[in-house]
Amino acid sequence: MNVIKLYNTQSRQIEEINPSNSDGILRIYCCGPTVYNYAHIGNFRTFLLQDVLCRLLITVGYRIKFVRNITDVDDKTIHGAQRENISLQSFTERWTDIFHRDCEALNILLPDVEPKAASHIAEQIAMIETLIKKEHAYVTADGSVYFRLSSFPDYGKLSKIDTRQLATQGENSAGRTNLADEYDRDSVHDFALWKAHKVEDGDVFWESPWGKGRPGWHIECSAMSMKYLGETIDIHGGGIDLCFPHHENEIAQTECVTGKPFVRHWFHSEHLRIEGQKMSKSLGNLFTLTDLINKGYAADVIRYALIGGHYRQILNFTLSGLDAAQSALGKLRAKVVNLSKETHFSPGENLFHPNVLYHYLNTAIEALKNDLNVPKCLGEIFSILNDNTNGNESFLRELYALCFILGIEKFVFDQGKNEKFVEIPSDIAKLAAQRWQARCNRDFEESDRLRQLLTERGWSIVDRREGYELEKIK
Ligand SMILES: [Zn+2]
Repeated sequence: MNVIKLYNTQSRQIEEINPSNSDGILRIYCCGPTVYNYAHIGNFRTFLLQDVLCRLLITVGYRIKFVRNITDVDDKTIHGAQRENISLQSFTERWTDIFHRDCEALNILLPDVEPKAASHIAEQIAMIETLIKKEHAYVTADGSVYFRLSSFPDYGKLSKIDTRQLATQGENSAGRTNLADEYDRDSVHDFALWKAHKVEDGDVFWESPWGKGRPGWHIECSAMSMKYLGETIDIHGGGIDLCFPHHENEIAQTECVTGKPFVRHWFHSEHLRIEGQKMSKSLGNLFTLTDLINKGYAADVIRYALIGGHYRQILNFTLSGLDAAQSALGKLRAKVVNLSKETHFSPGENLFHPNVLYHYLNTAIEALKNDLNVPKCLGEIFSILNDNTNGNESFLRELYALCFILGIEKFVFDQGKNEKFVEIPSDIAKLAAQRWQARCNRDFEESDRLRQLLTERGWSIVDRREGYELEKIK
């Protein structure tokens, strides 16, 4: 019997995962990216751990329906589109494409549904109307709508926050409170469901029963999870920073509409630190996937490093950690190449059969089934690999299944892709970064000089809209 246990933020306990619906399908919703810029590796740590969970569930035989949304209407996307003087839609579509490209590079499986907030305005309005009707929400003089926190006594049950000590609820996506809004609110704790149109929003607005405006951020997840997964979902995921207020607000909105529990199991992943420091714009350490690829690391190596720590612990992400990930993956792959010589292994359908027994790597898969312990799983794999030198087929089949769950199966088992091992020397990476900087500063003379220097050393630069790639000249 395949039992998967996971820590539940709400109960503060490790609990078994099981579907509540009679169709046996496990319903999973995760808060997706806001598409206004590159997602950074902290965002990707969360998406990767959700991916490992989904892959584990699928591998041991669960049927899942996985929904991850795209936030494409908020202050950041609106301001971004205005800065470039293009429509909100073309701005967010471009960043959605870039997000998808990064996900593909990181071998993150696509969700079953990826709803966009701006395409679900009617659903959000309908929900707000119900909340007003049930007196959980009210309209202010300017045509905004707020959720009345005092109408939901359960508020704070997830984050265990004491509502009496609540600070003013700002608009999270903007990170600060709009002071002008406060005069209208019954309580500073109340949060916006609908925001009346302001001059700064330009041509971004929708008609509603309360006039022109746009939804507040939190309501989209409630409306879209209900549309695609029903009133109660089995697992809701997100970064720990979303726990309060975003997820508290999602609970309040949804439960006040349905009168039923919104989420059975909350799955939150911890923060990421970079070289021991908090990740922030001002420290200049907000790494994107492209930044790290330009430093010469393969996306698979970055994936391996990002999933390597336990999801409930802060991960200290370092470049030396990336080097270690690179050498660990290389070892794993070399071992598989060796073992494969003695057998004719090819991954087959039966890998994903729930009744597959793990003889050799049982302790490794058990580590994953018990609160998604990736570091323990990796430790087990390496210690078993050190002892086992037999290249029998069932051993490789088990190893493949584990690599699939971790999402490193393409790198470890695809022997035709040796170019992923191409290392970019650090002086080359530095030159390329300098050239990119010169190009951004429109110093084309310097940019050409550096490009020439790189060519002489055997590297060419391919410029993309959002960055560049280095290729070895053959
Ligand atoms: Zn959400």
